[in-house]
Amino acid sequence: MNTYDYDLFVIGAGSGGVRAARMAAARGARVAIAEERHVGGTCVNVGCVPKKLFVYAAQFAEEFRMARGYGWQTAGPAFDWPTLRDNKNAEIGRLNGIYRRLLSDSGCELMEARATIEGPHTVSVAGRGYSAERILIATGGWPFVPDIPGREHAISSNEVFFLERFPKRAIVVGGGYIAVEFAGIFAGLGARTRLVYRGDLFLRGFDDDVRRFAAEEIAKKGVSLAFGSDVGAIGKLPDGSLEVTFRDGHREQADCVLYATGRVPNVAGLGLENTRVRQRDNGAIVVDGNLQTDEPSIYAIGDVIDRVALTPVALAEGMQFVRQMSGEAVQLLDYDLIPTAVFSQPAIGTVGLTEAQARERHAGIEVYKTGFRALKQTLAGGDERTFMKLLVDKASDRVVGVHMVGPDAGEIIQGIAIALKAGATKQVFDATIGVHPTAAEEFVTMR
Ligand code: FAD
Ligand code: NDP
Repeated sequence: MNTYDYDLFVIGAGSGGVRAARMAAARGARVAIAEERHVGGTCVNVGCVPKKLFVYAAQFAEEFRMARGYGWQTAGPAFDWPTLRDNKNAEIGRLNGIYRRLLSDSGCELMEARATIEGPHTVSVAGRGYSAERILIATGGWPFVPDIPGREHAISSNEVFFLERFPKRAIVVGGGYIAVEFAGIFAGLGARTRLVYRGDLFLRGFDDDVRRFAAEEIAKKGVSLAFGSDVGAIGKLPDGSLEVTFRDGHREQADCVLYATGRVPNVAGLGLENTRVRQRDNGAIVVDGNLQTDEPSIYAIGDVIDRVALTPVALAEGMQFVRQMSGEAVQLLDYDLIPTAVFSQPAIGTVGLTEAQARERHAGIEVYKTGFRALKQTLAGGDERTFMKLLVDKASDRVVGVHMVGPDAGEIIQGIAIALKAGATKQVFDATIGVHPTAAEEFVTMR
């Protein structure tokens, strides 16, 4: 006889939750999963996927410009926001269906409602209680917007994907991934765009050369970069447009103010007070190497534990959890050398240490850098430049950091990450034959 209704109750059907639920069910566990918003979670609905579709859309502006130098006569292309938005919505709807099917085909029970934890083994959904041997919290994150006067006139990444009208003038507040990506999207799609960041230079945490280089290139694409600046208040004018007052007192009108000022763990009202689960100051759930909380029957994965807020990391944590639960041999997730890309224009790809980190951790570091105008720009008459950087530990010759700003940086860095994970030395990079003519070949020809 089963003591519990389920072997596993997953809260949140996002990247991590769906992966864990269906993989556990595929191994024979009795699994339920609750989702209060959209099946597929942030990444599929208001994150990676629609964002990347918008990035593709924005890149056409540059492609149309460049096409002329290659002999294409393009008669003033015009952009239609409702077409992009609605096509994107249809595609996301299709993906939602696929996620639902994946869950039901693997034998999971999907409950499309909010779940609350009532105790170490109990969850309530829509007024009904369920018991489970284990509970997995995979509730993700939620946009953080600072409390300024007129905050209600600003939007976050939750709303930006569904705008009724595309703005002529956009202000993006923040200097992280989302701000930089959306500044590129707004500008590429034709909005006059200003990125407002409180610090001296955006993308804190990235390599300093990358940050400087990206700032130059992004500014060349027409994004106005306001560093050392912050919004103090937002008001609404009689014609419906917004008036933004900056902390230095100057004012500016805009049609849209997007706050991309970070995300916080999504734990409000989850019922953690009914358990021994511990949280950090920012609400993040504390787990050990096995992703187990201080309440032995409760585990947590993904953005809610605030380790590395990326979809592939949530997926990997989900898999680690399932393997543990099924009694399989488990290797704890290695958080080193996680590659990442910012889908800005141009894109940024990075894996391993920044130069500052490398100098801190290693006695001697060799730095290889190159900057060039890519072949495609020549006939196009463009002035976009590409930047690449390798950091090598002198003692072991190991490549400890690789950074790129330029087209396809995300695609290129994925392959480089495999080399770094395999422990590649600079000598291995040097002995690798390039693919010609590509930008990526520069990584094996830097001397
Ligand atoms: P989520 O995917 O957020 O899923 C959590 C789910 O839990 C949500 O659907 C939520 O509705 C549900 N939920 C919460 N509370 C409850 C409850 N009490 N009951 C029921 N359901 C609940 N990462 C990348 O790797 N690459 C990218 O290009 C990228 N782009 C991004 C762009 C944007 C604009 C954003 C916001 C994020 C992006 N990310 C990207 C990050 C990525 O989306 C997250 O790291 C990933 O979605 C985390 O997965 P998760 O399973 O932890 O949470
Ligand atoms: P980030 O943490 O990347 O950046 C937040 C930005 O907001 C920082 O520049 C921060 O400044 C600024 N900020 C924070 N608080 C305030 C404030 N009160 N006033 C003004 N500025 C403030 O968060 P994002 O929201 O951009 O993205 C969240 C996470 O989602 C990312 O960290 C990433 O893990 C993931 N993501 C991944 C993507 C990808 O893989 N391509 C794309 C999008 C998101 P400061 O630096 O000074 O603290």
